[in-house]
Amino acid sequence: MKKRILSGMRPTGKLHLGHYHGALKNWVDLQNEGSYECFYFVADWHALTSDYASTGGLKEFAREMIIDWLSVGLDPEKSTLFIQSRILEHAELFVLLSMITPLPWLERNPTYKEMKAELIEKDLSTFGFLGYPVLQAADILMYKAYGVPVGVDQLPHLELTREIARRFNFLYETIFPIPEPLLAAVPKMLGTDGRKMSKSYENAICLSDSGQVLREKVAAMFTDPQRMRKTDPGRPEICNVFSLHEIYTAHGEVGEIEESCRSASIGCVACKKRLAGRIEESMRDIHERQEHYRAHGGEVEDIIEEGIARARKIAGTTMAEVRSALKIR
Ligand code: SF4
Repeated sequence: MKKRILSGMRPTGKLHLGHYHGALKNWVDLQNEGSYECFYFVADWHALTSDYASTGGLKEFAREMIIDWLSVGLDPEKSTLFIQSRILEHAELFVLLSMITPLPWLERNPTYKEMKAELIEKDLSTFGFLGYPVLQAADILMYKAYGVPVGVDQLPHLELTREIARRFNFLYETIFPIPEPLLAAVPKMLGTDGRKMSKSYENAICLSDSGQVLREKVAAMFTDPQRMRKTDPGRPEICNVFSLHEIYTAHGEVGEIEESCRSASIGCVACKKRLAGRIEESMRDIHERQEHYRAHGGEVEDIIEEGIARARKIAGTTMAEVRSALKIR
């Protein structure tokens, strides 16, 4: 039996290189490894926990996100792709788990405090925002996932899911396995302005960017701030353009760029043009698949419906066990 893993992503607009290198590439690797049964879902209810006031684009974002997932190599024959809000059992399990989750567990969640402090333009003093780790626990436990691919910053959330599962098993009946974190090394991915790549900072290179758009974004990237003229030697170790060359450019060529930068024999404009070319080359297959799925909407709908049907079957079985353990039905 393959071990089941589960992960989700909020539909907040176009996916970018940060999503790809921070999560999607790992999802594809786990899928292709062959030892896991992979469930990946669009966390549209999670998007509501912070963006409840603007729901207009959600449905389209969810569909676009699945197109991007398919385009980067997620294979619906190997992975189950579904949309959270289409499986109503997630809401039921969320309600039941919220009954047994002590409030201090949620209040001490570091992401809760950080996001509340960062997103001051939004009123996040809502029950939904405080309780989203419980919804996350419901998502994971519903599928009795063995493991969850996470970044280091998400470990406190997963720990909360593990605590909730232990508490449920102790109070009622041992139903839920305690999910393990599957940590993967991810490269540092900064936006064009040197801050974390994020749609809200408007500094992202999107998975769909190509041609002129891509070249313009790369041309606007921050480099070594001390390199004012082409004749100034550069410091690739602090240059974001160079860190992307390390990902997208062949090893030997990276060494040559590093040396040329330090000896001031290459200018930043030329260096960026080379990078834009390498990114474009490496995304050619992704762009072709994006075009295909955009032109074949029915195929995408079928994939989504099939994923939902697979997920719903498991969710139904789990909830029957949960209701019986609680002696509700
Ligand atoms: S030459 Fe390239 S690596 Fe060096 S500072 Fe300019 S952009 Fe960065």
